[in-house]
Amino acid sequence: LSTPSSQAARTTQSQALFARAQAVTPGGVNSPVRAFRSVGGTPRFIARANGAILTDADGNDYIDHIGSWGPMILGHNLPAVREAVIEALAGGTSFGAPGEREVLLGEAVTRITGVDRVRFVNSGTEATMSALRLARGFTGRKYILKFRGNYHGHADGLLVEAGSGLMTDAVADGGQLNRQGLGQAAPSSAGVPEEYAALTLVSEYNDPAALDALMTARGHEIAAVIFEPVVGNAGVLIPNPEFLDALHRVQAAGVLLIADEVMTGFRLSLRGATGLLGLRPDLTCWGKIIGGGLPVGAYGGRAEVMNFVSPQGPVYQAGTLSGNPLAMAAGLAMLGALEADPGVYERLNTYTAQLAEGLKAGASAAGVPISVNQIGSMLTAFHSSAPHGSIRTYTDAARSDTAAFAGWFQGMLARGIYWAPSQFESIFVSAAHTDAHLNATLEAAAQAYAALTV
Ligand code: PLP
Repeated sequence: LSTPSSQAARTTQSQALFARAQAVTPGGVNSPVRAFRSVGGTPRFIARANGAILTDADGNDYIDHIGSWGPMILGHNLPAVREAVIEALAGGTSFGAPGEREVLLGEAVTRITGVDRVRFVNSGTEATMSALRLARGFTGRKYILKFRGNYHGHADGLLVEAGSGLMTDAVADGGQLNRQGLGQAAPSSAGVPEEYAALTLVSEYNDPAALDALMTARGHEIAAVIFEPVVGNAGVLIPNPEFLDALHRVQAAGVLLIADEVMTGFRLSLRGATGLLGLRPDLTCWGKIIGGGLPVGAYGGRAEVMNFVSPQGPVYQAGTLSGNPLAMAAGLAMLGALEADPGVYERLNTYTAQLAEGLKAGASAAGVPISVNQIGSMLTAFHSSAPHGSIRTYTDAARSDTAAFAGWFQGMLARGIYWAPSQFESIFVSAAHTDAHLNATLEAAAQAYAALTV
């Protein structure tokens, strides 16, 4: 490991690349949070990644806590994935016709997760967008219901009170997003017509009474309730048992339950968060880990519902590169590696729980109030004086001190620790993280907390 002090302020190459990037793409990045807007400073341009380490264009090493926002659960440049992709590559990069690898990954996903049918797409956004169309086609209803601060990708109807990068913007605007009465909300992005947003009802996560009230008033018009079974996109929010009960009541009322497991799928357990929490959604969406770091998403569920998808049924959904052989090979290798190591989730959980305890100790020693939410290998340390574990809703999370977070983030970066560059994101730990990484991270964290108070 590089020592933190060896890497202060060598950002010449990243700065030069950022300047060139800004000349060719909006804000210099291809996905907003990467631009470091909410924490300031120059985004590091990454040259390569291996195991738990990111290396930037200036040659600085960082202990990575993002894992490409989730996919790299077994660390970067995993030999099994690399070799599978190289092998597939020799046979051509795309066919536009079906191939065996799609069947193999379909068999793996149905066997592991228990869904009857699965359809592969190219991103999490495509998965949720397609699942909603399917739910509407299946039920013949127009409305969907989502939760404040949950993020489901950037399809128009889902950019309503959305989390992730949109949450940083909303909190900067005062935290109150366009509330318009029971269940109604305005779009969180320009370019989304109000008419689209009007079809998306919004309720507070972890508020069973609000969900029950909305279901009583509008349930007969609602095709589906889409939710993150454990939220990563408002920072980590863990569902209350009473909220899970209310989700069961949604299903009992004949409204489809769509679990967005893009972040949590194959991360919190092989059967995702829903497996852990005992939910049996009608449809499930995946992304990230399912593609082993290549662009893959998927949605699946009961045969009765999935058979509505074209060409078997009337709900159209297609993709030139869907089922791409390299992507399928990467996904197969990733799921194979996870299945071959059943103890991996316990190890990830132990590491991340130690990380949580160490952060609490470091912050407390420095007199910096933080509130940690951790489950499995997902964690957010909110800069908040709320007791640990008590942040349960978007509104709770939005009270965090984002300026303090930004200062701490910069302190971590300067010490060689790459954390998620927003208060309202989860970090992701990988199985490549060792005790040496843990100790180095906690030492840097304690120093970065202490530096906030001097
Ligand atoms: N759903 C959830 C829960 C996510 O976290 C994300 C992305 O972070 C998405 C959907 C969108 O996935 P993608 O970025 O692959 O389009």
